[in-house]
Amino acid sequence: MATSIRLRRLGAIAAVAGGAYTIVRQPSFSSNDRGDKLSALETFRRKISDPFAVVPPRNTQEAALIGSSLANPLDILVVGGGATGCGVALDAATRGLRVGLVEREDFASGTSSRSTKLIHGGVRYLEKAVFNLDYGQLKLVFHALEERKQLIENAPHLCHALPCMTPCFDWFDAIYYWAGLKMYDLVAGRHLLHLSRYYSAQESVELFPTLARNGKDKTLKGTVVYYDGQMNDSRVNVALACSAALAGAAVLNHAEVVSLLKDEGDGRIIGARIRNNLSGKEFDAYAKVVVNAAGPFCDSVRTLADKDAKPMICPSSGVHIILPDYYSPDGMGLIVPKTKDGRVVFMLPWLGRTVAGTTDSNTSITMLPEPHENEIEFILDAISDYLNVKVC
Ligand SMILES: Cc1cc2nc3c(=O)[nH]c(=O)nc-3n(C[C@H](O)[C@H](O)[C@H](O)COP(=O)(O)OP(=O)(O)OC[C@H]3O[C@@H](n4cnc5c(N)ncnc54)[C@H](O)[C@@H]3O)c2cc1C
Repeated sequence: MATSIRLRRLGAIAAVAGGAYTIVRQPSFSSNDRGDKLSALETFRRKISDPFAVVPPRNTQEAALIGSSLANPLDILVVGGGATGCGVALDAATRGLRVGLVEREDFASGTSSRSTKLIHGGVRYLEKAVFNLDYGQLKLVFHALEERKQLIENAPHLCHALPCMTPCFDWFDAIYYWAGLKMYDLVAGRHLLHLSRYYSAQESVELFPTLARNGKDKTLKGTVVYYDGQMNDSRVNVALACSAALAGAAVLNHAEVVSLLKDEGDGRIIGARIRNNLSGKEFDAYAKVVVNAAGPFCDSVRTLADKDAKPMICPSSGVHIILPDYYSPDGMGLIVPKTKDGRVVFMLPWLGRTVAGTTDSNTSITMLPEPHENEIEFILDAISDYLNVKVC
């Protein structure tokens, strides 16, 4: 989240909402004065926005990591080149820190290329904030709405506002969603993308021709259309990695942290042993701080620091299926907040096709999670209740 706040000032490429990261060791670098920081920011802004700027080649990135030493360590070494890790690297590099980042596969090869591609403002948190009178949830919505707008402004070539239609099969739903989404508009304030509005059943099927006018036992009363953002998640991630590299970070993909280096005296973490997964060669990189941004694999990195570390990740996975383009019109999503079993189901236009899916559920951690047949059946069954075309 801090990423896009920094980029706002830089007016540069991209930022994304990401997962958590943990700092394995406390920082100990000194701070510059304000004037230096502003001129450094201006330099980075120019570097990142230069259309002719070229990201240094792989061997230069690797040499910068290998060049670190106990006497001359990096300020920060980030483990993981997903949205979180690349965001951390960019943020730190534009603060003038010496940064390294290693990713064992390719940038965005993990969760960050398999998301639903939505830039949520947090409409569901707003519902919780209201019903549980929870100010913390409300603050989260304010922050998410601000970040949503910022991300779209930072990377307009990769992100845009997306209208999402919520079908209402009784008048209570129509009033409930209309009022809730108007509140969402209100909370967005100057970060609003577009106003939400109610459409009659006739107008709705004109906008979304595959929408069923008759549900299982009810007729469509209308829909409420509201706006959230949509992003190309993997390209945003790669843009973050490239921007970080242009700002001076040494970012290396296909490079895996295989162990952490510890100070022999006090046991502090002082760097990591890294294996270049393309050449098989290993080298050490030294850093004052190691940031664990390994996403679902955070616990395996934590056990490199402490083999008795208790797991803290609760993994969950979601399934998306790709349907032909005629299931949804170009530029309009369909979101059903509560299907018959209470789960959310959505259909979103994506690169000339339709992505359909539901909320995530608990799972175990695997490198390449595979969808189960029953999850695919659930999505197909749930969306067929709202469509006038056969779903199979
Ligand atoms: C089903 C689903 C849908 C989602 N939809 C959305 C959405 O619509 N919008 C949204 O904003 N968010 C969404 N999210 C959340 C978002 O995708 C994640 O918050 C984000 O991708 C997390 O990024 P990350 O960098 O923390 O993890 P990851 O992208 O998983 O990156 C971690 C990286 O660490 C690397 N790594 C692990 N161990 C090592 C090691 N030892 N050495 C080097 N590298 C290592 C891995 O290879 C991996 O690339 C969704 C999540 C799920 C599961």
